[in-house]
Amino acid sequence: MLLETRHLHIGYGDAPAVWDATLDVDAGEIVSVIGPNGAGKTTLINAIAGLLRCRQGDLRFDGVDMTNLKAHEFCGHGIALVPEGRRLFAKMSVEENLELGCYLQAARAARSDSLERVYALFPVLRQKRLQPAGELSGGQQQMVAIGRALMARPRIVLFDEPSLGLAPAIVDDMFDIIVRVRDDGAAVLLVEQNVLKALGIADRAYVLEQGRIVAQGVPNELLDQPHIREAYLGV
Ligand code: ATP
Repeated sequence: MLLETRHLHIGYGDAPAVWDATLDVDAGEIVSVIGPNGAGKTTLINAIAGLLRCRQGDLRFDGVDMTNLKAHEFCGHGIALVPEGRRLFAKMSVEENLELGCYLQAARAARSDSLERVYALFPVLRQKRLQPAGELSGGQQQMVAIGRALMARPRIVLFDEPSLGLAPAIVDDMFDIIVRVRDDGAAVLLVEQNVLKALGIADRAYVLEQGRIVAQGVPNELLDQPHIREAYLGV
């Protein structure tokens, strides 16, 4: 497995938020984590990105014990996050935002090649490369956030609610883009409230509720479970 978490406990101060989270993502896979608001999805993905310390448990990436590494070291090992809300610098140009993704030395050396790959994936960003990122549409800003993650040459991309706040007409495009990121060679861990879309592109998925993984499997199996149908699909 590329990414392995074992019995992760994650919290804020004294308040626990995620208990005993065990999940795997293999190279070439899209793995989705679904769950309601406040279930702990962002907490889990931020811990896997190195932004939050785990209190207990093991986090391994390509066999390396990541548990005590710093956030920038996670990036150096090939883990990149597309955060909820995109977190762009609105007044900086599209290209300047993209370049923030390759601040580590190894990624910086591949800067031009990485930019070409991002512009090949998102031709509209090439046209708008000198415009302030804040002037782009929501969908285009999400492309910049994904492009910035790809500039680090990641081996896994973590997506936190990529469809949130997008116009319904472009939500499908966003999921197509996630599939292209995987087809381009990175594994994907996707956290989403849009259950049908997230399961629609996933090879496997986990269900997180109140901080605990309560179900896992291939999408069709999960969609057959009465609890999932009731809680997430309203049937
Ligand atoms: P959403 O879809 O609303 O983002 P989520 O599944 O991503 O929800 P989290 O944001 O991870 O859930 O929140 C999990 C729990 O941790 C919630 O009870 C939340 O109140 C709590 N929490 C989140 N961030 C913090 C924080 N910075 N400090 C304290 N508690 C937090």
